[in-house]
Amino acid sequence: MTKNDSGLKSKIWLSAPHMSGHEQDFINLAFSTNWIAPLGPNVDGFESDLELYLGNESHVAVLSSGTAAIHVALKLLNITQGDEVLCQTKTFVASVNPVIYAGATPIFVDSESETWNMCPVMLEKAILDRIEKGKKPKAIIAINLYGMPYKVTEIHAIAKKHQIAVIEDSAEALGSKYHSQPCGTFGDFSILSFNGNKIITTSGGGALVSRNIKNKKRTVFLATQAKDPGIEYSHSEIGYNYRMSNILAGIGRGQMQVLDNRISARRANFDYYKKALHYISEIEFLTEPDNYYSNRWLTAILFVNKEIRDGILNTLISENIEARPSWKPMHQQPIYKNYPNYLNGIADNLFDRGLCLPSGSNLSNMELDRVIQVIKNYFG
Ligand SMILES: *Cc1c(COP(=O)(O)O)cnc(C)c1O
Repeated sequence: MTKNDSGLKSKIWLSAPHMSGHEQDFINLAFSTNWIAPLGPNVDGFESDLELYLGNESHVAVLSSGTAAIHVALKLLNITQGDEVLCQTKTFVASVNPVIYAGATPIFVDSESETWNMCPVMLEKAILDRIEKGKKPKAIIAINLYGMPYKVTEIHAIAKKHQIAVIEDSAEALGSKYHSQPCGTFGDFSILSFNGNKIITTSGGGALVSRNIKNKKRTVFLATQAKDPGIEYSHSEIGYNYRMSNILAGIGRGQMQVLDNRISARRANFDYYKKALHYISEIEFLTEPDNYYSNRWLTAILFVNKEIRDGILNTLISENIEARPSWKPMHQQPIYKNYPNYLNGIADNLFDRGLCLPSGSNLSNMELDRVIQVIKNYFG
C-alpha cells in the first residue's frame, strides 16, 4: 500500500477529474487563434458535440454551471415572484437554489425506492393539494440522481395531464438512458453539469438543453447580459453573465472524445464493488430496472441501518478514503425545512442508510480493493 510523506495512506477521492490528454490541443487552438474571449470555435464545437451525442433534436447552450442552467430554464418558463415549483427533495442543493433566485417557492416531493427519484404518487398528490390550496405549480424539477433515470413515463404523464413544464436535472446523468433515449433529452428543458467531479468536466461548467432553436437563442441572449440588437448597448430586460468561456469549452471537447470510456469505467466500478460485496446481506445495491441504463456516476449503496453506515463511513474516512452519505434531503436542510413538502419517508430513509463509494473513472483495481477491504473487515 502506498504511503505519502505524512505516513497517511494515499488519498482515494470520491470522483476525481479524469483528463483525456486531448483537452490541451483544444486549449492550444484557442490560444493560437487568440480566441481566448469572448466566445469562439470551442464553444460552437462543444455544443455541436453535445447535440450530436444527445440527438433527439436537442439544442445545447453551454453555460458557466449547471446551477446557472437551471436558473435560465426557470426564466425561460417565466417563473417569477410567488410562483411555485415542485422539486425532488432528495438531491444536491444546486437543483433548488435557482428557484429562490427566481423569487419563487420550492415545494418538495419525496422519492420512490426503485430509482430513488421523484415518486409519481407523491407528485400527483402534491399537485392536487397545491391546486386545492389555490395555486397550480408552474414547473417540476425532476432529477436523475447518481445517474439513474427517474420514472420518465410516469412523471411526464402527470406533468402533461396537469400541463406543467418539466426541468430535467441531468447534472449527474450524461450518458444514462431510459428506453434507449439519452438522459438530458426528456425535459421541456434539461440541464447538464461539467463541474469538477461530474462524469466529464470542464473544471466548472454546465449546459441548458432546449427542444428548439428559439429557446437556445434566448438562452444565449439571457446568458450574455441580454443586450438588445444594435451597437448602443441598450438593455430592455435583465440578463446574466452565464456563458461558458472558449477555453473551458476546449476542455469539454477533449472530454467528449472519451465520454463513452468514462461511462464504461464507472459502470465497471459498480460491477466490481457488487461482485466483491454482494454476499454481505447487510448491503443493498441500486439495481437498474428494465429499460434503465445508468452511467453509474456514483456507486451508491444502502446498509440495513444507520449505525452500520456511519461505522463504515467513519472507517473509510480514517483510512483517507473519501466517501459520503447519500444526499441530505432538502426538507431537512436548515434553509429549506420550512417550505411545503409531500413526504413518504423514503428520502429520509435513503439519507440515513445510504453511502456513496469512490467512483472515479480513473480508480485502479488496487484502490477499489482498498475500499472493499475496509467494508469486508467491518463485517469481520
Ligand atoms: C452538480 C449538480 C448540479 C449543479 O451543477 P453545477 O455545475 O455544479 O452548478 C445540479 N444538480 C445536481 C443533481 C448536481 O449533482
